[in-house]
Amino acid sequence: MTDRSSRIEGFYKLPIAERVRIVKDFAGLTDDEAKALTGASVDPTIADRMVENAVGSFPLPLGIATNFRINGKDYLIPMAIEEPSVVAAASNAAKMARDKGGFRTSSTAPIMIGQIQVTGVKDPTTVQNRILEKKADLLSLANNQDPMLVKLGGGARDVEVRTIETREGPNVIVHILVDVRDAMGANAVNTMAEATAPLIEEISGGKVYLRILSNLAVHRLARAQAVWSKEAIGGPEVVEGVMQAYLFAEADPFRCATHNKGVMNGVDAVILATGNDTRAIEAGAHSYAARTGTYKPLTTFGRTQEGDLMGTIELPMAVGLVGGATKVHPTARACVKLLGVKSAQELGEIVASVGLAQNFAALRALATVGIQKGHMTLHAKNIVMSVGCPPELVDEVVKIIVAEKKIRMDRAQEVIAELKRKRGMR
Ligand code: NAD
Repeated sequence: MTDRSSRIEGFYKLPIAERVRIVKDFAGLTDDEAKALTGASVDPTIADRMVENAVGSFPLPLGIATNFRINGKDYLIPMAIEEPSVVAAASNAAKMARDKGGFRTSSTAPIMIGQIQVTGVKDPTTVQNRILEKKADLLSLANNQDPMLVKLGGGARDVEVRTIETREGPNVIVHILVDVRDAMGANAVNTMAEATAPLIEEISGGKVYLRILSNLAVHRLARAQAVWSKEAIGGPEVVEGVMQAYLFAEADPFRCATHNKGVMNGVDAVILATGNDTRAIEAGAHSYAARTGTYKPLTTFGRTQEGDLMGTIELPMAVGLVGGATKVHPTARACVKLLGVKSAQELGEIVASVGLAQNFAALRALATVGIQKGHMTLHAKNIVMSVGCPPELVDEVVKIIVAEKKIRMDRAQEVIAELKRKRGMR
């Protein structure tokens, strides 16, 4: 399957049915799986099992990013997102990275942290030592909770202890480090944290309150890098523009927030399409970006000796292929099959690559023509549809307001009224 190419020229110009056919062939999807990609909503009985008080489902557009080559393998990448331009930008950035080999990735083991908060501790240092002396007992108690995970090669691996100062005195914080394999891991880790808490309370003589995983998953990082040749991206001045944009974000949290938002446009869309937890990934990404005490970019950019642009990304990546919505949501299942990933780590590395591609695309646009040019037509379409334009007039109204550079609701309404009058429509 490694010889499949994701470089599909003119994919965006094809009718939807043709795109679905290509995607289906690429990943060997069954008819039902292809239907799950295009299907409008989750069956109410499935929705009812996923959340409380279900009344239906909330479909989002699902786009396919083309052109991605990651570690020498081609991927078509499903992205669930409501924002225009994101899928196109990712595909374009991936295309421009191909002549230098695409993306190269790595990741650390899937280790999550479970936190146990011990309060009312008089001598934190002694308590820390006592807890560490019982490490083996704590690990075995934790592992007894999830024989399945242990059988699969995962399980609790280590115990760390820290003391933090709260406004009302010290807390000893115990971290149970758990290898969660192909799970996102929240349930697995939370169960272990709850199970070990009574023993920790007994050892410490303190009072335990919280027992929950940390989304700042510093031990579970995904990384990607890519080189964009100056020729592929529009010349040395574009390399310089992206560099200046990056330096701006590195030095200014106001810019950095938007820089990282651009990264998360790509990240969240793949996370959502694969049924993973966007809030967990967002919390992890932003807390990781601020881990030094100053909010920093999740990506870095530099110039190579040849004057090309090199980009890298590193972020926590708590994604799973089992558990959560990934296994129960039919569209998520089809998206995972489309990616053909064999492990949560492989999925995480793909997500990181998309985040890097997305960020590069945004910086390139911002440092050259600006972001609005690409956004304009789709944005105009949204505006025109939001004011209740009859479907047969949408394209014409969009063309007019884009040409006039008056992409506003009031102008859209005027143009719709004019066209209706001319055509004798009501
Ligand atoms: P889960 O408990 O449904 O599945 C994980 C379990 O599946 C493991 O404990 C293991 O017993 C079993 N398993 C089978 N095959 C496995 C494999 N190959 N690798 C690893 N485990 C395997 O899911 P989870 O990942 O523990 O929890 C994810 C859910 O928890 C998500 O829905 C998330 O939204 C939610 N959640 C998140 C937070 C948070 O982020 N703070 C808190 C609570 C819950």
